[in-house]
Amino acid sequence: MLSQGTQGQPDPVISEYRGRFAPSPTGPLHFGSLFAAVVSYLEAKRHHGKWLVRIEDIDPPRELKGAVTSIISCLEHHGLQSDEDILFQSRQSTYYDQMLETLQSLNCLYRCPCSRKQLADTAKHLPICRQQEVEGLPCAIKFKADGKAKVWQDGMLGRTSYLLDEDFVLKRKDGLYSYQLAVVADDIQQRVTHVVRGADLVESTPMQLALYDALEVSPPQYFHFPVVMNEQGQKLSKQNLAKPVNIDNATQNIQRVLAMLGIIPGGDANNCRSLLSNAIERWHPDLLATRKSFVEPAIC
Ligand SMILES: [Zn+2]
Repeated sequence: MLSQGTQGQPDPVISEYRGRFAPSPTGPLHFGSLFAAVVSYLEAKRHHGKWLVRIEDIDPPRELKGAVTSIISCLEHHGLQSDEDILFQSRQSTYYDQMLETLQSLNCLYRCPCSRKQLADTAKHLPICRQQEVEGLPCAIKFKADGKAKVWQDGMLGRTSYLLDEDFVLKRKDGLYSYQLAVVADDIQQRVTHVVRGADLVESTPMQLALYDALEVSPPQYFHFPVVMNEQGQKLSKQNLAKPVNIDNATQNIQRVLAMLGIIPGGDANNCRSLLSNAIERWHPDLLATRKSFVEPAIC
């Protein structure tokens, strides 16, 4: 049985705002992730809400040893502490399988043994997998896209619409759960009302909305903010070797993030929690309204 997400109410009257920050432990926290953590934190606290940390460790082959501990410690050094117990996706398999069973019973899924090459030819692929049971082959479990536009009112981007015309994987051939399934399942279980994340994830939103539709659960409100780039204009990521955040410079790092947001830091300059709590009343999403992206500061 799936719990019903709290229906988001219009800003600013939100009965219980529940936001989250959900890093993957594929490497230590970089400045872009710290920026995302602070934005989601300030937005939750502006609404007197809860801010939850979730570790998205569903892909062990891509995980870096020690990254989970290092990320949690790095957040804590920066005054960013989860308001509830940290949720680990690696412990959620039973729940994810239940969700797959629910979606299966709603006739939303099919098993697909196709290779990437076969998938490149969609015309051939669909009649094979969508319309007959495939047995005896390693299969991915896929969600049937309905080919319709998914529309939402984004807190940053305004009315946003994406055509969802491609089926997508919920469980891979190797047995690992997909990001889309895990995120929706966890956001429902954690009763997340607001998803505040980088605009690099905007293309996941239509797939996630399709899952909410199928499950008949109200989706959270989405807010996609501009991401932090390096000097070469690439999004900071573990793939392009973004530098880890140095915890020895924690207060300076928080001040750098606040400065990027256009907030003049107040409070105790030597205390991250003080800097953050002082920033809450100065923070407003309008501060990002004219920004397309941010550039990583030289030292972090
Ligand atoms: Zn197939």
